[in-house]
Amino acid sequence: MTVVKERAYAKINLYLDVLGIRDDGFHEIKTVMHTVSLADEITVSVSPSKTLLIKLFIDGNHFLPTDSKNLVYRAAEMFFERLGICADVRIKLVKNIPVAAGLAGGSSDAAATLRALNKIYKRPFSTSALLKMAATLGSDVPYCLLGKTAVCEGRGERITKIPTGLKMNILIANSGEHVSTPEAYKQLDEQYSYFDGSVRNVGEEKFSSLLDMLSTGKFNDNAFYNIFEEPVLSKCPRSMLLKEKLVSLGSECVMMSGSGPSVFAVFSDNTTAEMAKDSLVLDGFCAWCTQTV
Ligand code: ATP
Repeated sequence: MTVVKERAYAKINLYLDVLGIRDDGFHEIKTVMHTVSLADEITVSVSPSKTLLIKLFIDGNHFLPTDSKNLVYRAAEMFFERLGICADVRIKLVKNIPVAAGLAGGSSDAAATLRALNKIYKRPFSTSALLKMAATLGSDVPYCLLGKTAVCEGRGERITKIPTGLKMNILIANSGEHVSTPEAYKQLDEQYSYFDGSVRNVGEEKFSSLLDMLSTGKFNDNAFYNIFEEPVLSKCPRSMLLKEKLVSLGSECVMMSGSGPSVFAVFSDNTTAEMAKDSLVLDGFCAWCTQTV
């Protein structure tokens, strides 16, 4: 039996714009994603077998499916289909990242599963072959396979890595309100119903100042942008309140991640971030102190 452990890191979107709807019905996006230290843990063990048997065990969340509805299961199934062999596969997932929260937890789990299996079998697939598999599992999975800081375009699969030395203390907080990603896109389509598919430039100025911030390593509290924030938070009053609280607790910049409703806040030091976290937990919110990875 071979066992490999992988961390599946959450991501935040420092910048997220939707440029239009493509002919194939998908949205054309432009985003800058950053990995943070909040992570799920995946332990994969495989033994030889004449048939493919995948068993998924989950710690920390009793509501997630353990069958082919789970992205971890689907990633493992795809890996073995492409490799053309069978095995007895046991996967333990320790779920720390909140679900459907704009932090790409499921996508990161799928990516970590692909990385773990590729390690176990001594890298039968190149990075570009893994990226192709990842793209069929979900739009954020290719980025999660590589992690760190990157501009992602298209559906998210055109990835340009950005070297940056910028380290940030990030407090991630969640109100428990539920937002489905398709619903968030629908809201956006309604709000921008004049879209004709042409590329807009709503956040272009912010995009340039974000790239400057990342390359110089100097924090700029006005560099983040998320087109989903206004339409999603207008329907999530507790998340809106959370954003206001984070500002009053001393954050230099607060922004919603992905299609929400999690928000992240940058703090100049870890002690203030820890104090803000304690205060939010007392108010009934969930919060995690993290660093950019
Ligand atoms: P994104 O930011 O990529 O839109 P998200 O953080 O909003 O993702 P996820 O936590 O990835 O959302 O979950 C989205 C959906 O995927 C949930 O409804 C959940 O049931 C399903 N799902 C399947 N597998 C997993 C998994 N391993 N972890 C979390 N959710 C999963």
